[in-house]
Amino acid sequence: MFKKVLKFGGTSVGTIERIQHVAKIIKNEQSSGNKVIVVVSAMAGKTNELIDLSNKISSEFNKRELDVLLSSGEQVTCALLSGALIDLKIKAKSWLNWQIPILTNGDHANARIVNMNVEKINKYLEDKGVAIIPGFQGISKNGDVTTIGRGGSDATAVAVAKIFNADTCEIYTDVDGVFSTDPNKIPVAKKIDKISYDEMLELSSLGAKVMQPSAVQTAMMYDIPLEVRSTFTERKGTKIFSQENIDYTKSVTGVAYSKDDAKITIIGVQDRPGIAANIFEPLSKAQINVDMVIQNISSDQKTTDITFTVKRDDVFKTKEILRKNNKIKYNEIIHNDKVAKVSIVGAGMVSTPGVTYRMFRALSDENINILAISTSEIKLSVIINENNILKAIKKLHTIFDLD
Ligand code: ADP
Ligand code: ASP
Ligand code: MG
Repeated sequence: MFKKVLKFGGTSVGTIERIQHVAKIIKNEQSSGNKVIVVVSAMAGKTNELIDLSNKISSEFNKRELDVLLSSGEQVTCALLSGALIDLKIKAKSWLNWQIPILTNGDHANARIVNMNVEKINKYLEDKGVAIIPGFQGISKNGDVTTIGRGGSDATAVAVAKIFNADTCEIYTDVDGVFSTDPNKIPVAKKIDKISYDEMLELSSLGAKVMQPSAVQTAMMYDIPLEVRSTFTERKGTKIFSQENIDYTKSVTGVAYSKDDAKITIIGVQDRPGIAANIFEPLSKAQINVDMVIQNISSDQKTTDITFTVKRDDVFKTKEILRKNNKIKYNEIIHNDKVAKVSIVGAGMVSTPGVTYRMFRALSDENINILAISTSEIKLSVIINENNILKAIKKLHTIFDLD
């Protein structure tokens, strides 16, 4: 008998028929004698729909009220799924975030789960009930409803697994597991049977939305093994766990991409010590995350161009801060938000020389210009023009033997 956390994402509970199908999966688990805690997302598209509603009132809709609004999506799924289980003669009950409670720290829309009360739910599991709890949310010290970031039901599932000391944490979704790249974009993508926390963290941070990065980070920190699998097939999924259990025959495990970035160039900025600090200090104070930075060689020894990337949503705020910054002098600031970041990730890169060169050669063979580069031990990212994205992913997928 195991204590299991089963998390079902938005597509998995996207229609009434799908909710009824999920209820059958849960029934099987429970009938096998397992204690089951279920974490659910809002029905597919619901959270976006609620955001659109708030935008119709104001683009600066009150943050507290936005969290109240957005958390309602998961509440709907909880009740429908509990009802479906009860209809199958399974003892089941939904809990709202404040009824548990799920305690969070931090700002609205970006809170973090810090604890949960386990007593009532553990008792309910002992009494052979299935507990259904809402992902993506909690309640703050002040008693306000909070949400924990988009895709946050994954993080709820991992937190529940940790706090309830579960034996397994299974992430049910609309694909068979974690693939070498997005299987909905590149059909030859291959399912990965096992992947390390580090690699999964890089892949998800770089755009593979199959797992939310902060969920992977928590799982890694507390060594909670995860399994990503399909709601709609019986196929074996992907195990995510610590590195010792994995054997690396390939230098690259996966290719990720995102369209969240934009590139900003400051042309003709003075070339002397302290300028970079003067540029980036106010950005960091304004919580703007700068990712890649490139400084061109100064041809006249006096001025240079500095290019860097920020999140696309931060472009205008960044430009405004730069314009108001009287510690820097420059000729012009330009930006390009039609760019994409393509990354290769693999723990095997550490021991394989030549990966960097092969990536650059492959892109040049496709006539793709590299606009910026960043590397870490197990990843290599490049910024390219957005319209080259599919060509780049396909090529990299092929040359690193992932097809
Ligand atoms: P859920 O609603 O179940 O949380 P998401 O939509 O958040 O599901 O994540 C699943 C989606 O992630 C898939 O449908 C797929 O298009 C996308 N995806 C992106 N990269 C990958 C990858 N490397 N492996 C699997 N899926 C990926
Ligand atoms: N419903 C939330 C979202 O769409 C949380 C989740 O699905 O994980 O972001
Ligand atoms: Mg998700």
